[in-house]
Amino acid sequence: MRAVLHDVAERAASFRESRAEAPARPLKSYAELQTAFEAPTPEHGAPIGELILELATLTEAGLANMVGPRFFGWVIGATEPAGMAADWLTSAWAQNVGNAHATPAASACEERVGAWLLDLLDLPRESSVGFVTGATLANFTCLAAARGEVLRRAGWDAEADGLFGAPPVHVVLGEEAHSTVFSGLRYLGLGAKRVVSVPVNEQGLMKPGAFAKAVEKLDGPIIAIAQAGHINSGGFDPFEEIAAAAHEKGAWLHVDGAFGLWARACPDRAHLSRGLQLADSWGVDGHKWLQTPHDSAYAVVRNAEAHRRAMLIAASYLPAGVERHPADFVPELSRRGRAFATWAMIKSLGREGIATMVARHCAQARRMAERLGKEPGIEIMNDVVLNQVAVRLGANLDGAEADALTDRTIARIQNDGVCFVGGANWRGRQIIRVSVISANTTDDDIDRSAEAILSAWRAELHANA
Ligand SMILES: *Cc1c(COP(=O)(O)O)cnc(C)c1O
Repeated sequence: MRAVLHDVAERAASFRESRAEAPARPLKSYAELQTAFEAPTPEHGAPIGELILELATLTEAGLANMVGPRFFGWVIGATEPAGMAADWLTSAWAQNVGNAHATPAASACEERVGAWLLDLLDLPRESSVGFVTGATLANFTCLAAARGEVLRRAGWDAEADGLFGAPPVHVVLGEEAHSTVFSGLRYLGLGAKRVVSVPVNEQGLMKPGAFAKAVEKLDGPIIAIAQAGHINSGGFDPFEEIAAAAHEKGAWLHVDGAFGLWARACPDRAHLSRGLQLADSWGVDGHKWLQTPHDSAYAVVRNAEAHRRAMLIAASYLPAGVERHPADFVPELSRRGRAFATWAMIKSLGREGIATMVARHCAQARRMAERLGKEPGIEIMNDVVLNQVAVRLGANLDGAEADALTDRTIARIQNDGVCFVGGANWRGRQIIRVSVISANTTDDDIDRSAEAILSAWRAELHANA
């Protein structure tokens, strides 16, 4: 085992060292990888050293350079070494962390890291924190707590009696809520379509007057969902007004803050989230801005009892007690100790390092927007307040032509491999979305990437002429 782990460590280190100049896109296609992986079910065991080497060889050509400094696709952190090392140890320790008696170190670490997170993100210190896989599950967990609590206040025990016959729960959210919020609503029996959609402004943010008007009309239990960090604009819903209107009607206010919540850890950007602390629950990722390994996110609920009631696993073989059992705050029972990697990343960066990184990414997003926005025919569609840049190509062309040109430009950028950007459809137009969120991105990477994007655009424009 020792020799295998040494080899793996060597290989991992070489892999990581090669990332700065590796192409940003996978070298092989999905179809090529399907062929590469094609093999009959193994009948006999194989030596670990050999099979690990085979796995690495098969896989590495099909990896996106998500840890590279010029990867701006989706919103993906870089998995920094401190978190990765802690994650390796987490696998070696092999703890099933559901219960405080079984694995006191994991429980104590979660408690401490939870307190650190509330401090860094400046959320109500009495909140409970569940360690989940991603913001999808963080939102789900928080909304489960919300569902139980708003129904309990209406005299209904949803945890015991389910939803059949319960007073209907109204769900109010912005027209551009993240798609995974709707998944959470589906899992919870609240329905993805049975929602009140509040109109948004050109940055994708809820109009406070429209929100207040929508909530005012509703009777009975209400869950409102706002957003910190719009996926295209990076903008923040107006929480002060939203919270006031929501609480006036006794609604539970949840905030999807997958990446944007980290603005609160940065004095330079914290003002964007004014009033966010007035909400009742928050979902936030570790594997985006905090650079932890996948998968890691946090479900934060002000009312810890509502959180625990929604997630409690009542099994006779699990010792109860006054301790905080990690499984009582997440959907899963058996799982890995996710708090260890988060502990390591917070130690590695510190409050100061997190603030500096967030501020730097936001400045780099502005730098990117300036470089691109100067080019004729390119328009920056968002106010670049955070780390997201929404780029529209062919502003002077017909819509369908501009969209097709945008898609071809994205393909060319990806194929060139200097940087990686993705596309999105926003306000009826195809856009390039640039998300600056990798710990390793330098200003020089921004300049090189801006050049690569511009030369791909010029080449496509030329080919189109
Ligand atoms: C990424 C993201 C999610 C989903 O988070 P996962 O970690 O992928 O589960 C939800 N909401 C927003 C705003 C996001 O950016």
